[in-house]
Amino acid sequence: MSAHIVDGKELAGIVRQELKSHVESLIQRGIKPGLAVIIVGDDPASSIYVRNKAKACSDIGIYSEVHRFQKDASQDEILQCIHSLNENAHIHGILVQLPLPKHIDNNRVISAIAITKDVDAFHFYNVGALVTGNSVFSPCTPAGVMVMLQRNNIAIEGRHAVVVGRSNIVGKPMAFLLLEQGATVTICTSKTRNLSQFTSNADILVVATGKPRMITADMVKPDAVVIDVGINRLPDGKLCGDVDFESVKAVAGYITPVPGGVGPMTITMLLSNTILAAERAESAER
Ligand code: NDP
Repeated sequence: MSAHIVDGKELAGIVRQELKSHVESLIQRGIKPGLAVIIVGDDPASSIYVRNKAKACSDIGIYSEVHRFQKDASQDEILQCIHSLNENAHIHGILVQLPLPKHIDNNRVISAIAITKDVDAFHFYNVGALVTGNSVFSPCTPAGVMVMLQRNNIAIEGRHAVVVGRSNIVGKPMAFLLLEQGATVTICTSKTRNLSQFTSNADILVVATGKPRMITADMVKPDAVVIDVGINRLPDGKLCGDVDFESVKAVAGYITPVPGGVGPMTITMLLSNTILAAERAESAER
């Protein structure tokens, strides 16, 4: 039997409609959620991401503005911009598009963002809040995966979740979100010996390595839930994930496609975090 395909594009559409009505009710109360995006340099992929974020905001009524800096901009210029956005009452979320040029210290920049406006949840405070089970904002990609699991009624508690990849933006926060929901979690990395011994034991397998189609059918437990976070551009220009979709879909119970799986949920969660930040700002004013 073939796996159930978890359609991230369709789910993102549904969630964005729900978010749109949150925005409408905030606007009726005199608050228009606002997101500021900072981009440094002219990386074409980053420019596309920023454009997509701005469009997703305007589609549901969120105000957004983009602050562009030349690739040789100084760290102080960027910090100054963040300080002024921290003080700007019309801006509820601040996002710095990564990667930054090498002369800029990522940690300095991210930790300058007010924790209440840190909609990417990369600030050390928000990372600590996530790890201790007190998070307000969750990083967008793993948060999107959690929504995909929940909306498909996939049980998490008591199940063995294996996360392949340990990056700060996907693998680690993913593992903590699953742990928080009662999964028994294993994290695998490039140093893991005999990877398939772990992956083939997973009830829920989340893969975020950036290695095209590295997870094959023989590495997956029958009926497992397979979430493919990877987005890889092949030499022919097509996109593929870190999971070999065609072979694995014959074994898995659920599988996300690439494109059209986790990707559309990531921006959706950015919108959700921005609205949450606006709602929290509203209650802080009361
Ligand atoms: P990173 O390169 O930061 O991390 C990759 C992780 O995978 C590392 O921890 C690395 O281990 C691990 N890894 C690499 N090769 C192997 C291997 N053979 N076996 C086991 N583990 C391995 O990538 P990101 O986490 O930022 O992104 C991962 C993928 O997800 C990329 O394709 C990226 O484009 C995509 N992505 C998709 C998003 C979406 O919205 N869908 C959002 C963000 C990312 P080690 O630490 O030991 O080197």
